[in-house]
Amino acid sequence: MYRLAQISVNIIDQCVAQGVPFAREYGGLLANRSFGGAQVSRTFYARGQTGQQLLLGAYQALEKEIAKGGVSMFPRSEMLDLIVVNGRARGIVVRDEVSGTIEPHLADAVVLATGGYGNVFYLSTNAKGCNATAIWRAHKRGAAFANPCYTQIHPTCIPVAGEYQSKLTLMSESLRNDGRVWVPKRREDVGKKPGDIPESDRDYYLERKYPSYGNLSPRDIASRAAKEACDDGRGVGPGGRGVYLDFADAIKRLGEDEIRERYGNLFEMYQRITDENPYAVPMRIYPAVHYTMGGLWVDYNLMSTIPGLHVAGEANFSDHGANRLGASALMQGLADGYFVLPYTIGDYLATARPEPLAPDASEVKAAVADVAARTARLLGVKGRRSVASFHRELGRIMWEHCGMARDAAGLTQALELIPSLREEFWQDVSIPGSGEELNQTLEHAGRVADFLELGELMCRDALHREESCGGHFRTEHQTPDGEALRNDEEFTYVAAWEYAGEGQPAILNKEPLVFENVKLAQRSYK
Ligand SMILES: Cc1cc2nc3c(=O)[nH]c(=O)nc-3n(C[C@H](O)[C@H](O)[C@H](O)COP(=O)(O)OP(=O)(O)OC[C@H]3O[C@@H](n4cnc5c(N)ncnc54)[C@H](O)[C@@H]3O)c2cc1C
Repeated sequence: MYRLAQISVNIIDQCVAQGVPFAREYGGLLANRSFGGAQVSRTFYARGQTGQQLLLGAYQALEKEIAKGGVSMFPRSEMLDLIVVNGRARGIVVRDEVSGTIEPHLADAVVLATGGYGNVFYLSTNAKGCNATAIWRAHKRGAAFANPCYTQIHPTCIPVAGEYQSKLTLMSESLRNDGRVWVPKRREDVGKKPGDIPESDRDYYLERKYPSYGNLSPRDIASRAAKEACDDGRGVGPGGRGVYLDFADAIKRLGEDEIRERYGNLFEMYQRITDENPYAVPMRIYPAVHYTMGGLWVDYNLMSTIPGLHVAGEANFSDHGANRLGASALMQGLADGYFVLPYTIGDYLATARPEPLAPDASEVKAAVADVAARTARLLGVKGRRSVASFHRELGRIMWEHCGMARDAAGLTQALELIPSLREEFWQDVSIPGSGEELNQTLEHAGRVADFLELGELMCRDALHREESCGGHFRTEHQTPDGEALRNDEEFTYVAAWEYAGEGQPAILNKEPLVFENVKLAQRSYK
């Protein structure tokens, strides 16, 4: 965290130099604003699309390097295995998604920057293509998987609209700067139009429960509070799974033009999806899976437990601990890529001095053969049930038993349901087409097969952690007023799980968390 804080300032300069159009004050200096979980304005932003603009800046810089010949790009290639030789990462095996060709890429070191695994829940704010395959296959080759149960559920998403919905949409957290979150005080009012509910009958529950942070309470707290209100029968919209995010006061105070200036693109997106005008009626929002704090374990140099395998961004577990606050994931990913790995990989190469590796080395051939065999096995099932239906069912199990609130009974049940769903998958999954062509069902099937294993590990991790802490809330462990109750005596450690082989329970390794400069205490947002 210390290093991240130190280098975070460089990130903004780096991105500005790459052309990212951060918001500026009238005098030309970079502007900033507040964000969930922070009481001061310290977040640099590009309207409501900071992430997208950072991505465009990075892409442009990458394209420049590709044009200069320093970087080779292999689009439409999916990494399906890690090549490990003499205990060191020496390359990857990929499948060309268009031709189906499976081939190795050899290297002196490997970096995985393959993102988070929120799509294990099926519905999430992540892009549909996000998956855990790269890190899961590396895990099975020996990389420890740390803190898999910690999941960030973002409070500000458009509620689920129907059974066959395939993804969820995030309304940027920045909206909570000016929007006020509320539900009706009385259950009998949930069917009324929001404009017909007078001020005195509204419950601005975040402002009431957390007066100092109010609508900017951290994501886990704001999400659980929304769930509580809906569980209490005061949720609004279809199925009663929604709360209002209301801009009426902000529009009165600042004018519609100013709100349009700040959030116009988000309001437009909301209107397109829901066909409701958020300038005239409050938005409806509900929590959704958004970010995974767990990932492959890495050391200070971002190297996993497999020497030579480095992991950056959301794919690793570092920095965020139990709870990622707003505006920190991109900062961490950029810090890892721009300011940490360029130094630590050099150090690794200088000390490890990797030997030349022949393309026909037995380990390389074996890894390629493993990928080919797995692909053939998937195609050979020839069952009747669609990949998406397995994914949806897994997502339902995960959301219900390993979602916003968890308990021992639910997790134990999930640990029975997931293996039997996995067994059914391998007996009855239907994958039309062949492996020698563009076959998105085959790609999806491989990813769902991995999710079916990772989901079990997440539940196992959540079950063993007998405390509530950030993105892991065990209902058995809460304070009398419903807040997370940590157990520092027994759980101040990173749970780094080691793969123990097919069908074997993973092995738990504990890395103690030692706090030298800060005193471990319960943070209050009240
Ligand atoms: C809607 C949304 C809004 C967000 N807003 C913010 C924000 O305002 N501020 C903030 O700090 N964070 C935000 N985040 C979080 C942040 O964007 C992510 O944590 C971050 O982008 C992760 O970056 P990454 O490079 O680690 O992974 P990703 O951006 O997920 O990139 C991973 C890449 O690896 C590829 N890949 C995956 N598996 C394979 C494989 N097997 N083979 C080949 N390629 C593979 C993927 O296709 C993808 O291109 C937001 C996230 C979402 C979903």
